[in-house]
Amino acid sequence: MARFSVRGLRLRPGQKHHESLRLVLDPLVLGGETYHTVPPETPAELVVQRAATGDIFRLALSTRLEGPCMRCLAPASLTVEVHAQEYDATDAGADEELRSEYVSDGELDAGAWARDQVALALPDQILCRPDCAGLCPICGKDLNVEPHEHAEEAVDPRWAALEAFRTDAPDG
Ligand SMILES: [Zn+2]
Ligand SMILES: [Zn+2]
Repeated sequence: MARFSVRGLRLRPGQKHHESLRLVLDPLVLGGETYHTVPPETPAELVVQRAATGDIFRLALSTRLEGPCMRCLAPASLTVEVHAQEYDATDAGADEELRSEYVSDGELDAGAWARDQVALALPDQILCRPDCAGLCPICGKDLNVEPHEHAEEAVDPRWAALEAFRTDAPDG
């Protein structure tokens, strides 16, 4: 379940509601690679609190994301923790800033909110291991498996010519 009916709770100011959700998050696409949550269903804890002028939402979840290492494309995974809060003013005429983008028609889109929060919590790079050496930029071999350098090729005049070609090439 991704959308949660807030209206159906019929909370009065000061009242709180706790709900355990099981969210199926859409895969995240980063740098052309796809990352899935494992297992597919993410357990999440939602708290809805009615304040005098709106609703406060708190979301907590922990999930595991799996996909290719951003350096060597080997399988990589990481655990992502989310603790998020949203506020949504009850007054329909309230300032945009006081409205939550995840609430509409009395429903909270918990799935979209959770997915965005998972994306925000990710490190800059998803790696198979912190010191992953990546793929060789010249021959494409896995430097973790076969550490090597291309000292000779780097000074080969053919490479220098190729570099010059790259620099001169028009954009696009
Ligand atoms: Zn790697
Ligand atoms: Zn190489």
